[in-house]
Amino acid sequence: MYQKVKGTYDVLPNESPYWQFLEQKIREICAIYNFSEVRTPILEHYEVIHRVNEDSDMVKKQTYDFKDLSDRLLTLRPEQTAGIIRAYVENKLYANQDISKFYYIGPNFRYERPQKGRFRQFSQFGVEALNSDSYLLDAEIVALAYNFIKSLGINEIKVEINSIGDSQNRIEFRKTLVEYFTSYTELLCDDCKNRLLTNPLRILDCKVCSKEPFFKNAPSPLNYLNNESKERFDKVLEELENANIDYVVNPNLVRGLDYYDHTVFEIVSYSEELSHLALGGGGRYSSLVKELGGPDITGIGFAFGMERLLLALNNSNLINIVPPLLDVYLLVTTNYPYKISLLQDLRKNNITVETNYTVGSFKNMFIKALNKNPKYILIAGEDEFKNNTITVKNLSTRTEEIVKKTNIIKYLKKELKTKKG
Ligand code: AMP
Repeated sequence: MYQKVKGTYDVLPNESPYWQFLEQKIREICAIYNFSEVRTPILEHYEVIHRVNEDSDMVKKQTYDFKDLSDRLLTLRPEQTAGIIRAYVENKLYANQDISKFYYIGPNFRYERPQKGRFRQFSQFGVEALNSDSYLLDAEIVALAYNFIKSLGINEIKVEINSIGDSQNRIEFRKTLVEYFTSYTELLCDDCKNRLLTNPLRILDCKVCSKEPFFKNAPSPLNYLNNESKERFDKVLEELENANIDYVVNPNLVRGLDYYDHTVFEIVSYSEELSHLALGGGGRYSSLVKELGGPDITGIGFAFGMERLLLALNNSNLINIVPPLLDVYLLVTTNYPYKISLLQDLRKNNITVETNYTVGSFKNMFIKALNKNPKYILIAGEDEFKNNTITVKNLSTRTEEIVKKTNIIKYLKKELKTKKG
């Protein structure tokens, strides 16, 4: 028996309407904010993801890297920002000197330990806004993330926000942080022992160490902001306040990837079931476009996990998708010729139709037809074939009528229209 790859899942027909619902909501809000969709490849050259300055645990330990048959080293994208910036630079989309606003929906791959809300193939909806370092754009992007969640009807969420300052602030902060945690090396978890050498900022959002008493007095990046960075952060918060965005400053929030600076944020569920699960997060980045060969352009973006959004929607019973009723079931009880052309005529007139593909006992065929839950069953047998008619059973009134075959479309259209009306 073949099984799906660990950490992946199938979206089956009863689940796909939920995905379609979510995708439609995303497209609606992105249209209102005037963000355009981009679709980049799932495969990128290894170097696009594994950049010299990228030291995050995720990129270092969780990517699917492999060589193709021509010995090219490739990576399945673990997130989409890097690929989008690669496309932005490769296609010189910055040439118009204007702000570019993109959104994306699609799968990513990370070799993680699968658990609730965590998969090896998962999908993200995200946005990127490039070519402006205005604090207003930071506030607008946070507002977009917040308003999107609200528009889905998901409550009990908060924006957790922080500033990690510019690169200069971070050099100083990093030094102090390493000094602080070095005195607790023995108490750090194994991952954080490594992070102390490679990516000390990440220790701050370690789920294990953050619960320990030694963590209490750890320095926060907020205390290392210079005046300019601090002022910038205050203005972002002021905008959010005025726009009624429910936020809280989380002084330990740093986020996983190395390319962030200034504003970083997460949208966190505070509901009992999802206890503090991050539905999405993002931040500003200043070095990424340059790192990928482009000009000195900054950007800001966020990404939501689609699976987690669906989890939050399902937990709050917010989607109740009722499959549409089938208009017609065409039940053919004999070897009726030109069946496809009849089905085609119905469908050309926007009538949804199912049919039987084999002929058996009438009772069995009729039960199968009823199971499809149609509004009408059209019966075409020997008599109907001889007389050029079709028998129409109306399942709501339980009445039956014999209709001339040439009139059947007109008849059904009128019937279906009255019903809908
Ligand atoms: P990140 O790209 O790590 O900042 O994650 C952004 C969002 O993507 C998270 O808040 C999650 O909602 C989602 N996410 C990240 N990794 C996974 C995963 N392995 N499985 C499911 N969702 C994920």
